[in-house]
Amino acid sequence: KEVVLQVEDLKVVFKTYGGTVQAVRGASFNLYKGETLAIVGESGCGKSVTSNAILGLIPNPPGTVTARNILFKNKDLARMSKKQYREIQGKDISMIFQDPMTALNPTLTIGEQLTEGLKTHKKLSSAEAKKKAIEMLSLVGLSNPEERLKQYPHQFSGGMRQRIVIAIALICEPELLIADEPTTALDVTIQAQILELFEEIQQRTGVSIILITHDLGVVAKIADRIAVMYAGKVIEIGTKRDIFYNPQHPYTKGLLNSVPRLDLKEEELQPIEGTPPDLFAPPAGCAFAARCPYAMIVCNHVQPGVTALTDVHQVSCWLKDSRAAQD
Ligand code: SF4
Ligand code: MG
Repeated sequence: KEVVLQVEDLKVVFKTYGGTVQAVRGASFNLYKGETLAIVGESGCGKSVTSNAILGLIPNPPGTVTARNILFKNKDLARMSKKQYREIQGKDISMIFQDPMTALNPTLTIGEQLTEGLKTHKKLSSAEAKKKAIEMLSLVGLSNPEERLKQYPHQFSGGMRQRIVIAIALICEPELLIADEPTTALDVTIQAQILELFEEIQQRTGVSIILITHDLGVVAKIADRIAVMYAGKVIEIGTKRDIFYNPQHPYTKGLLNSVPRLDLKEEELQPIEGTPPDLFAPPAGCAFAARCPYAMIVCNHVQPGVTALTDVHQVSCWLKDSRAAQD
């Protein structure tokens, strides 16, 4: 399988008046061509900060991003200049956020916003760009696309606007799409339609998707693999089957237990008693130790490493590490 994105030991800190927050503390994962990797976890676990770091969107100051590698098609994003970054943004890498209104410019027509990237990145003529924009609007399910091009964002419903945002994100045929809670603001029916649209487009274009979400129902529907984040680290990663039917990390198990029905929309995941650790002063050992029913002495002192259970299923927990004395 071709690796499109390789993130190795990503760290993001923010300097504040109250001290330094370690928002991401060494996250590592791969993304394969044509797959959807869902990154899940409670709010504050570092999932959005991780995606923003990949997108080069962490402001410095107050943020600092370091990584052994953020390799996108063998180019190291962690060591790119702002200018190099801008060239790949919107062309090779696209993003979609929760609120479609902030992603759209209220003063420009849909047509202008759809064709902008095609003209700057792909050097298409106006006529070619318009043709492609019409195709894209029909692909995302808008009727009368030619008429729609002349309209402004406020003339569309929320669901339609998110379809337009998706059309803009995908019109330059990026290889990587990062979607942060893309359906959270939408009602359940529209949400299902948008998720289907993601799948359809992925099948047609082979785009690799990172989906950031707290909603396990969304994950169950479209993820191929799942990375579970806790306190700034990926604590378990595996296929959807691994994570839903054979979770190994106590936190993952708690997360799944907290969702009585996958079709219910949870406010925020609150899997287990207690709260995540203070990332101004993260614990020396496992960040989950204070909440973990299985915590051992070693857990309080030494951070667990990564144990590979299979080729694709990895967990970071002393229970799965043969070096820990088990009692
Ligand atoms: Fe629990 Fe220890 Fe595993 Fe952390 S390393 S999840 S505290 S058993
Ligand atoms: Mg898929």
